[in-house]
Amino acid sequence: AAMVFGLAACGGDDDGGNGGSGGGGGGEAAGKIGVILPDTASSARWESADRPLLEAAFDEAGVEYDIQNAQGDAQQMATIAEQMITEGVTVLAITNLDSASGAAIQRQAEQQGVQTIDYDRLTLGGESDYYVSFDNTEVGRLQGEGLAQCLGDQPANIAYLNGSPDDNNATLFSQGAHEVLDAMDQYTVVAEQAVPDWDNQQAATIFEQMYTQAGGDIQGVLAANDGLANAVVSILGRNNAAGQVPVTGQDATVEGLQNILAGNQCMTVYKPIEQEANALAELAVALVNGEEPEVDGSVEDTEGDREVPAVLLDPVSVFRDNVKQVIDDGYQSAADVCTGA
Ligand code: BGC
Repeated sequence: AAMVFGLAACGGDDDGGNGGSGGGGGGEAAGKIGVILPDTASSARWESADRPLLEAAFDEAGVEYDIQNAQGDAQQMATIAEQMITEGVTVLAITNLDSASGAAIQRQAEQQGVQTIDYDRLTLGGESDYYVSFDNTEVGRLQGEGLAQCLGDQPANIAYLNGSPDDNNATLFSQGAHEVLDAMDQYTVVAEQAVPDWDNQQAATIFEQMYTQAGGDIQGVLAANDGLANAVVSILGRNNAAGQVPVTGQDATVEGLQNILAGNQCMTVYKPIEQEANALAELAVALVNGEEPEVDGSVEDTEGDREVPAVLLDPVSVFRDNVKQVIDDGYQSAADVCTGA
């Protein structure tokens, strides 16, 4: 009897282990989906949100998949891509580290009959068959509108800390923010710089120089994501100005939400990554099954003379009064956000 109970506690009949590479079953010649994420340091999102949400979406669909992270190394991404193709991946999604290395991976894939998807970042001059992302210009507009809301009507000097110059999204974020803020006469841009690889340490160094050069006469900072925002907040803190200078962000990270609750960050842009992960999974699964995926429209590849069929999702502004929305949505937990805030 003890044996029987023991087996029951283990789930009864042996239905086999369910490893990281879901579904597939025996015998059927289904394809396999590969995803290569960019790094771990430029944003908490890649490993804490994208990976688990993609795993859940692929598991749910019952397809075979392999998700890896290039750790900020373009050569490593190329090696992973080759290995994935050798191991039988028929649909490959990448979040490129720069357009040139992404395009090389996509050319290689195409030659081997592998379809490719740009996940989050468009590969300029690339060969991607599809693009899944948020509306990145809109992300920038929300940042610009958010900063204006926190600054109000009085004149202000603004500094821009943009994302990586190699990331097409960073260009779009900055364009969207400029579109809004340049139209407001009371604001003056006193400094603007891109942060290589979205590196948070470099962001602090760059902002410190900006702040010193401006003699501290900066009233608002357009920081492109929460990691860059946190670097700015740390420098402002050293100058006894944290909380007095509104700073924007992006990704609704635990750190970003804590900075907002503490009054040190004006806002963040929340991108419900579950929607992006599900959109990628739907697209990739359709392609693996030889079906035509559904898309909303297309985006222009400004370096490639091509239109890429795309799914573009809607970003959401988060200020102090709607941080709860991110928690209610299940994107971050109250326990994480409220610790130390
Ligand atoms: C993504 C952002 C992210 C940044 C740094 C961008 O391409 O859209 O969500 O914060 O890269 O990883």
